[in-house]
Amino acid sequence: MSITEFSVIKNDSNARACVLETERGTVHTPAFMPVGTMGTVKAMSPDELKEMGAEIILCNTYHLYLRPGHEIIKALDGIHGFMNWDRPVLTDSGGFQIFSMSALRRIGQEGVHFRSHLDGSMHFIGPDEAMDIQSSLGSDIAMVLDDCTPYPATYDCAMDSLFRTIEWAVRCKELQKEDQALFGIVQGSLYEDLRRKSIEELVDIGFDGYAVGGLSVGEPKEEMHKMIYFTAPLLPYERPRYLMGIGDLGDVLKAVEAGFDMFDCVMPTRNARNGTLFTSRGRVSIKREEFKRDPGPLDPECGCYTCRNYSLAYLRHLFLSKEILSMRLNTLHNLHFYLKFFKDMRASIISNRFPDFKRKWEEIFRA
Ligand SMILES: [Zn+2]
Repeated sequence: MSITEFSVIKNDSNARACVLETERGTVHTPAFMPVGTMGTVKAMSPDELKEMGAEIILCNTYHLYLRPGHEIIKALDGIHGFMNWDRPVLTDSGGFQIFSMSALRRIGQEGVHFRSHLDGSMHFIGPDEAMDIQSSLGSDIAMVLDDCTPYPATYDCAMDSLFRTIEWAVRCKELQKEDQALFGIVQGSLYEDLRRKSIEELVDIGFDGYAVGGLSVGEPKEEMHKMIYFTAPLLPYERPRYLMGIGDLGDVLKAVEAGFDMFDCVMPTRNARNGTLFTSRGRVSIKREEFKRDPGPLDPECGCYTCRNYSLAYLRHLFLSKEILSMRLNTLHNLHFYLKFFKDMRASIISNRFPDFKRKWEEIFRA
């Protein structure tokens, strides 16, 4: 069963330009998924997201389950109707947030008990609950519940967590609904044989796509890069490959070179609200004194609404005054920059210029 259609259009060594077709629209990869944690990409309307070229967004199951609750969202036409976004949505399984946000979690073979970070109430999510919640949300792509291995992890801990993830993946697959794609999640910490084992087991079960999780959780960058290059070629060629939670552009360039297709990260949106902007000249902190009287645009090479209409001096003033418009204009620019970056990266793969593209941007954003 496959609700999504996926085809590789072009290779530039391991980097690939692909098309992922879903009932709600086409996703051109390499693709960046803006993060809509609470059922909104912070500070942006769905129309604005579409205008800047977002083809798919990610929503967080953990947050939506706790508030407003998946039953409410289900009753209000699912996540698409609720937030007025008619393009594809990918939901994570909640696993990562349970591990990173909630207190007092207790993991067993059957699932995880945890305390809400909102009001301290106790909850339980196992594979059945994760699939039921994501089905209620009505996302186009669901993720299996995984036990996100922390760093550092001993070999035995990483292996336990890996086999728990596989057991949960088997159950999630049994519960997959016909109208929802399901991606498996590779764990195994920094151990190559465990990562390989994880991939073999997941491929045996058979998923619509494969994600690599448990990276960027505190390990040294070179270890993370090693694992990116190790895992990508082991994942099935004919299915989408998703590197979870990694969006630093230096890391993205390496991951695309390795053969990953899909990415999500709060970096462009969160940094925008904190006044760090991504431009064709690298990272810019908008609060810098030198912008006080600067009439020029943030990025002369950017065609976004912010860069077309506002000066650096004004953007700096809005940020220092903590105006709401500052968050809007900064987010608009950063997301526009990211989506354009991915679009240009895809074009470079199609025209066999990806190595040049990578070299150029690695100099600008030294990873
Ligand atoms: Zn701009």
